[in-house]
Amino acid sequence: MSKKVIVVLQQREGKLHRMSREAIAAGQQLAAKVDASVEAILLGSGIQELAKEVAGFGLTTVHVADHEGLGEYTPDAYVEVLEATLAAATPDFVVFPHTYQSVDYFPRLAQALDAGLLPEVTALVDGEGGELNFQRPVLGGKLVATVRVKGEGTVLLSVQSGAFSADEAQPGQAAVESLAFDAPSTSREILGVEAIGGDTIDLSKADVIVAVGRGVGGEDKLEASQQLAQILGADIGASRPVIDAGWLPRDRQIGSSGQTVAPKLYIAIGISGAIQHLVGMKGATTVVAINKDPNAPIFTVSDYGVVGDLHEILPPLVEAVREAKGE
Ligand code: FAD
Repeated sequence: MSKKVIVVLQQREGKLHRMSREAIAAGQQLAAKVDASVEAILLGSGIQELAKEVAGFGLTTVHVADHEGLGEYTPDAYVEVLEATLAAATPDFVVFPHTYQSVDYFPRLAQALDAGLLPEVTALVDGEGGELNFQRPVLGGKLVATVRVKGEGTVLLSVQSGAFSADEAQPGQAAVESLAFDAPSTSREILGVEAIGGDTIDLSKADVIVAVGRGVGGEDKLEASQQLAQILGADIGASRPVIDAGWLPRDRQIGSSGQTVAPKLYIAIGISGAIQHLVGMKGATTVVAINKDPNAPIFTVSDYGVVGDLHEILPPLVEAVREAKGE
């Protein structure tokens, strides 16, 4: 086994980003397909305890870059350390969680390493000849491209949120090794980082979610969906445009840049079903979609679909649920 997969983990204040576990699961699955060893790199400051936690995954080695210059993320310091490390390690694949942070620096890293780049991978699939192919959304998630890597050299790939289950990350006992590297330099100074949003709603534990999309048509048109949520004892969730428009607070967003949910019942109202939304809710047991477009992609993941105008469908639906509940 001479092939090598390296997973670059993301952490903040000594806590692993939830998608780092998904990246480990993806790295392990990729390594199993290409018969490779799988290692991890952890960057930050004061992260020795976290390194011990990561050592509990099925990895051969966890390489730790612990330096005060990596305390607050900056793209130049990360690229500097990773470029030197990866150039020396010559892995076949480097796996990143597809986060705002990794998107910020890994294209530059790929360029510095003269490596291939596959962002937003959602699946590893076998080609007709048994070769390994990768799937990733293109054109804003309207199409799924199946991609084969040609040629030699390192390929950097990021994995889409929710595409690989964190629960599938295999446990094990990895060696922890300190990385030797030159003190990183950065052209910027982070003066402070402030958390925004205060208390956030944890939708991941909700049993029933009524999720609204841009198709609802405005903040002033949310009432029928809110009534449905209330009568079902559901939490309200939303697609990103609803949040960006300020109709609902950010902690209601479901999807790749929002929360990942797995309710028993998910009712999608006026949501088209873009891949970035689907990855956040595909763990739902039963999906009901209401959409006026019969070709909306949300119907491909729905157990029940209602094609029609949500403004006509919701009021009688609320009444019917009320009656069924005897209220
Ligand atoms: P649209 O795509 O505009 O769909 C609206 C739907 O409503 C349509 O299907 C339409 O047929 C239907 N409709 C309209 N009027 C009615 C009516 N009267 N009755 C019934 N149906 C009606 N999106 C997320 O949701 N979550 C994320 O976390 C997320 N992260 C992203 C991260 C990145 C890096 C990028 C690039 C995008 C991200 N997106 C995310 C955005 C995503 O690509 C889509 O743009 C978004 O999900 C679309 O939201 P929507 O379905 O509400 O709106």
